[in-house]
Amino acid sequence: MIRDSLSSPPLGLYVHMPWCVRKCPYCDFNSHALKARLPAQRYIQALIADLEADLPLVWGRGVQSIYFGGGTPSLFPAALIDEFLSAARARLDLAPGLEVTLEANPGTVEHDSFQAYAQAGINRVSLGVQSFDDDALRRLGRIHGRHEVDDCLRALKASGITNFNIDLMFALPGQDIEQARDDVRQAIAAVPAHISYYQLTLEPNTAFSSRPPVLPADDLAWEIQQSGLDMLQAAGFGQYEISAFAQDGLQCWHNVNYWEFGDFLAIGAGAHGKITNAGKGSVQRYAKHRHPTQYMRGLDDGDWLADRRVLAEDDLVFEFFLNRLRLRRGFSIEDFSMRTGLDWSIVEDRVQQAFDRGLLEIRHGQVNSTELGWKFVNDIQQMFL
Ligand code: SF4
Repeated sequence: MIRDSLSSPPLGLYVHMPWCVRKCPYCDFNSHALKARLPAQRYIQALIADLEADLPLVWGRGVQSIYFGGGTPSLFPAALIDEFLSAARARLDLAPGLEVTLEANPGTVEHDSFQAYAQAGINRVSLGVQSFDDDALRRLGRIHGRHEVDDCLRALKASGITNFNIDLMFALPGQDIEQARDDVRQAIAAVPAHISYYQLTLEPNTAFSSRPPVLPADDLAWEIQQSGLDMLQAAGFGQYEISAFAQDGLQCWHNVNYWEFGDFLAIGAGAHGKITNAGKGSVQRYAKHRHPTQYMRGLDDGDWLADRRVLAEDDLVFEFFLNRLRLRRGFSIEDFSMRTGLDWSIVEDRVQQAFDRGLLEIRHGQVNSTELGWKFVNDIQQMFL
């Protein structure tokens, strides 16, 4: 039974922009290759109307972050990002100095300057660099090369946005350890606030899954990963989540809230949201129509929603542990009760089993992964499935 302990967690706003210049062969995100002109103005109108329809879900609550993800949000001109942010300011209680992130891809930012995005209110940028090596980028099917990465970084610095992330992949087709180390070295040299460092995996329903490239063997991939982690650590990038590394105090607030099982409104094609209703003692997840054409029909018929469901006890337990265990920082028993509304006794046996196996430690009401547990996060997550 959901109990009175359920309380409203911090709230973020996620905005999905579902188009890319071309579909990368490894990508399983909801992104669509642009086949005609970007319907930018109509899409922004749809986002504003969609936001308007979601407002009753969060009456009276403040918003701590906005995240434009994709797809490639930097395909949208800054004037339209500005139009959306003005509409959001008029409708939501935005926290002063809130984090506003825009995902951008090198080779697309010439659609507008970072300076113009900064003037529109963007104060954090996440750059999809993936590699600094031309051959690796070509094999990944990226639209940009090293040259565009350098241009993009120069333009970003000139704009004054210092809070930026570099997305970097490892275990790329044909990659050896020196090439992987060189990528990490160059990412560090660009002095970002944050680096997301993650392994290329072959996902179902992607071009790579039907025509798989030759990837480094498991032991080499492991060696590459360890070496990258050591370099990031030595350069002052603390690992606060499985794939996320940041300089002190510069973690991505929006993503941390997601992993802490916080709430987020989600608007845009295929966007997924999670909202707690403490008064009703329920937590719901919902998704918007996935295909951009169907989504934008919402402007005519007001139908944005593809799915909505209230999470059952089992879902709450699994989703809480699935997300929280990704963070290096532990959580308190009280956090569990406040975020799920459930009594700790529901999970006590399983936490004890993880403790007995040396995967979790519990001290003064605080639960943390041990060093062993951090290496086997998937195993602990499975215990709460
Ligand atoms: S740029 Fe990103 S979102 Fe777009 S297709 Fe490539 S990986 Fe997917």
